[in-house]
Amino acid sequence: MRILITNDDGIYSPGIAALARIASRFGEVRVVAPDVEQSSMGHAVTHSRPLSYRKSPIEFPGIEAYRVNGTPADCVALGTHLWSKTDVVLSGINMGPNLGNGMWHSGTLAAAKQAVLLGIKGIALSTPVGDTEPDFDLLAPFVEKTLSTLLADKELALYNVNFPQRPRDTRWTRQSVRLYDGTIVPGTDPLGRKHYWFTVTPLEPAEEGTDRWAVDNDFVSITPLRLDLTNELMLREKANG
Ligand code: MN
Repeated sequence: MRILITNDDGIYSPGIAALARIASRFGEVRVVAPDVEQSSMGHAVTHSRPLSYRKSPIEFPGIEAYRVNGTPADCVALGTHLWSKTDVVLSGINMGPNLGNGMWHSGTLAAAKQAVLLGIKGIALSTPVGDTEPDFDLLAPFVEKTLSTLLADKELALYNVNFPQRPRDTRWTRQSVRLYDGTIVPGTDPLGRKHYWFTVTPLEPAEEGTDRWAVDNDFVSITPLRLDLTNELMLREKANG
């Protein structure tokens, strides 16, 4: 199995090193990742300048690794173009959760979406970052178990996986779409000039069975997603007049 690995935190992230290490138990792995952090880039693509594809300056033992001056979606498009017959794209492990409405901004998830657009299975993997960095050794058996489940079938599918800091079990979940607080917080720079932070915080507690609920309750959350955003109910109503 050919497994292409990317992320949105960039090639230097400990999360991508952990994922490459674990994924290499399932097949042949290649890493193609952004050369700098691209978090919250969503599904942006670079169309106004050329992309470069260079050997990674950091070593992934036994794995070919490349850095790209582009977005996560660029890395998937370029990586799968230059490595024919890629079977699956894994994106992560992101340093920070990608849950609920946060999925709209996620570069991690966008890389997996780009894979599915190209007809290749895509799996996004994320974990929260607290006061300490994620313990990837502790998470490794859960990542391995998740991959063995999701890589078993050949179906074209898009999965969004989130690992709590200390998982106790796994749940299949739906996306939480409760209101969130995407608000602007003003601040001042060292020279006294005004600047602004865009913050994303859930406003309401998560409902049971959702991705946010699962991670809040120490479950690994696996959400199967689709690319078709059509509002079926409204379409039926409008189409039938
Ligand atoms: Mn990120």
